[in-house]
Amino acid sequence: MADMTDDQMWRYNRQMMLPQINYEGQEKLLESRVFILGAGGLGSPVAIYLATSGVGHLVISDFDKVEITNLQRQILHTEADVGREKVVSAKETLAALSSDTQVTIINHKLEGDELAEQVRLADVVVDTTDNFSSRFALNRCCVAEKTPLVSGSVIRMEGQVTVFRPDLDDEGPCYHCLYKESDELGETCTDNGVVAPVVGIIGTIQATEVLKVLMRIGEDLHGRLLLLDASTMEWRSLKLKKDPNCPVCS
Ligand SMILES: [Zn+2]
Repeated sequence: MADMTDDQMWRYNRQMMLPQINYEGQEKLLESRVFILGAGGLGSPVAIYLATSGVGHLVISDFDKVEITNLQRQILHTEADVGREKVVSAKETLAALSSDTQVTIINHKLEGDELAEQVRLADVVVDTTDNFSSRFALNRCCVAEKTPLVSGSVIRMEGQVTVFRPDLDDEGPCYHCLYKESDELGETCTDNGVVAPVVGIIGTIQATEVLKVLMRIGEDLHGRLLLLDASTMEWRSLKLKKDPNCPVCS
């Protein structure tokens, strides 16, 4: 790509000041493509921070419309967006935040080859959906395409976040190693409720992990599941192992 403009040098100055990021790290972000599945509670902070950080291309998929119950936590959308498609509202918000980020929106359910193609084209995939069949389908594609997957979920005042790295040739787990499709995974915030800023905490961690994976800095949450209980504000970190009998990755 072309060299960064003066405006871009100023705009990203505060993160480029970090020696491990520098010009090269910022350039990587501007050249990166990230696929975000879901423009809701987690997808909102993920998309906003990735855009303001200078990720060059975001692909956002969601087929819901904005409802009044979404506004409490889905900060991509405003009162004026109620009734509109979430991806359209998301694209407008992101366009207003940054002209450096190209936003591609997909307003139907992605399945099969179409889902696989988006995963293949992405440098990192972010799971911000609240739907378990989508989570399993996305994991299968990420394992098959060897694309890093940053996964998060929140319910009530509890959140969890981790990173899967099928792109690294090692013995790391996949999403399916943690959760079996037969497990009782029906819990959603529609039925159980959720506290808005807790969604923001987990989403901003997801965004941070995406940046780290893209710039190859620090140590991401690969092989670790970070659990938050916001009612006591206690964090736990669990080591994750690959399931040798996992039908997806083994
Ligand atoms: Zn697995």
